Amino acid sequence: MNFDRIKEKLNILADAAKYDVSCSSSGSKRQNKGKGLGDSSGMGICHSYTEDGRCVSLLKILLTNHCIFDCAYCITRKSNDIQRAAFKVQEVVDLTINFYRRNYIEGLFLSSGIFKSPDTTMERLVQVAKKLRLEENFNGYIHLKSIPGASDELMHEAGLYADRLSVNIEIPTREGLKLLAPDKDRKDFLQPMKKVKDEIIRHKSEKKIIKSTPKFAPAGQSTQMIVGATNETDAQVMYTAAYFYKKYQMKRVYYSGYIPVSYDPRLPSIGTDVPLLRENRLYQADWLMRFYGFSIEELLNKEHPNLDSDVDPKLGWALRNLHLFPVDVNKADKQMLARIPGLGMKSVYKILGARKYRNLNWEHLKKIGVALNRAKYFMVCNSKDWEKKDLSAMNIKSLILQNSSSKFRNTYNNQLNLFDKQDALIQY
Ligand code: SF4
Repeated sequence: MNFDRIKEKLNILADAAKYDVSCSSSGSKRQNKGKGLGDSSGMGICHSYTEDGRCVSLLKILLTNHCIFDCAYCITRKSNDIQRAAFKVQEVVDLTINFYRRNYIEGLFLSSGIFKSPDTTMERLVQVAKKLRLEENFNGYIHLKSIPGASDELMHEAGLYADRLSVNIEIPTREGLKLLAPDKDRKDFLQPMKKVKDEIIRHKSEKKIIKSTPKFAPAGQSTQMIVGATNETDAQVMYTAAYFYKKYQMKRVYYSGYIPVSYDPRLPSIGTDVPLLRENRLYQADWLMRFYGFSIEELLNKEHPNLDSDVDPKLGWALRNLHLFPVDVNKADKQMLARIPGLGMKSVYKILGARKYRNLNWEHLKKIGVALNRAKYFMVCNSKDWEKKDLSAMNIKSLILQNSSSKFRNTYNNQLNLFDKQDALIQY
């Protein structure tokens, strides 16, 4: 092996892979049964955070950054004058095993530019995963990017060896995709997603009858959208996400603030700030939809097409719906408690548990660890010490903002003004 050349390729192809954020993992149950390398059970992968907050690492690379497409938002696009490289299948296998043995990584995230054709590319990605599993007995985590337009057969094979598969939607709207990647067709993303969803369902139901049925992508599928490359509203982004969660049973949708990589009049210019606050707000809204029982329509709609930049989506919703508050913490059901700004699900469960034994007052709430700095404006309890006065939404918001310290404070106003939002069409 020519180590210098491998190192050079690694530099190029790891750098090119850093733009893909759809690589945190959760939910894989692949286990090491005594022989073989690695064990991804209960383990998240990627230099990222798992759902339970642990930071994990993976080898995150492209197989190649050669690409026949010219998507304007992508560093790897064919018209970009950059250094190109390609790994051989065996080189990726060897790197993964060597890094794993040295304890550098817990798995592999492998994506690729599209060379020759989607099938040729997908075939190589599958070969890597297959060799790792069958020849190296590797039980660590494998996340493969599915190449849009790849055949059903290859998608099927990929799911037998990978823990997670993902196809990136990239641009949230059809129009945006057409503008920035005219060679791409949205149905090329949808076909592999549908195949993966159908296969996951089929394998799960067959496994109930035949125990030896192999697992298929046990950590499910995910996708990523680039946010801020086109002029879509937050409503358009989140309605697209909600559609993919429902229709394709996505485990996760990732939102990646556009990093300007291109001098192109269709895109924000180089040097424009990456919309990190917006990205953060979208993740918060996503979280509310998945774990707090909010519907997309409650958070975003025609009257309210963008998330607030100065307050989080739950607080924003509560301020627009003050008629539903204050909530009596001693009587409200779980769903309504979860809607109180500042209360996480842990606090909700603490309240539900503690109120079985007594009528809770502010002191009780503090003692069980419920943070009241925001929540106190939206709840009442067994106390006369502090009751919600008739504060307006504006008053509550300014009281809360006075006492909050957000790392995003200074970026509130810059990000959403990149495009004239009045021009953005809302299509649900
Ligand atoms: S097909 Fe993928 S790798 Fe190629 S230019 Fe488009 S986004 Fe980049």
